[in-house]
Amino acid sequence: MSHREKLPNILFYITLRVCEDVLGEKGLFSILKYTRLKKFIDEYPTKDLDLTHDYEDFTTITTALIEVLGESGAKDIMTEVGKRAFYLIADIAPYLFNIENVVPERIPPERRYEEFLKVYRVMTDAASAIFGDIYTILEQEAGLICEISPCYLCKGLRTKGPICYIQVGFMAGAAEWIMGEEIQVVETLCIAKGDDRCRFVVVKP
Ligand SMILES: [Zn+2]
Repeated sequence: MSHREKLPNILFYITLRVCEDVLGEKGLFSILKYTRLKKFIDEYPTKDLDLTHDYEDFTTITTALIEVLGESGAKDIMTEVGKRAFYLIADIAPYLFNIENVVPERIPPERRYEEFLKVYRVMTDAASAIFGDIYTILEQEAGLICEISPCYLCKGLRTKGPICYIQVGFMAGAAEWIMGEEIQVVETLCIAKGDDRCRFVVVKP
């Protein structure tokens, strides 16, 4: 199955907003100049669900972060971008991932991991519908496994190690939001380093 051609404007808005928060206005400007996506310098994407911009534009932004920051330099910054992107979505656009009715404070502590598994499946279905990529969720002893192929974050990249830190940060944000504690997420397979899919493990607390 191939991915969608266009993605909702608000996804671009959220991505640029968090990149600007983390990298600063000048940092975001350099990335956009580097990517030749100058259209976003002149005009921020709108906060709606209209499909104006290409899937490729999204991948261009995320891969440029790695090209500009370098493989090891990108790690902390991109993880932070992913985490903040999750929190901004939960704040201003929870409907994107069907989480508008989730109230973590109301979940009893002993039910939080189970609830996370449930909510993450809902979010994954929504992500599949938005991106058109194939997502697989597995529940294992070690924790929740999420696999993506093709991957909108690392398309076209060749790296030594796993590189989809935005997804790592995003999943860590979602897990932390629901479980109320810091949760470790690791990427164990990555298409950019030659694997056939990207694979993320949310380590069971
Ligand atoms: Zn990837």
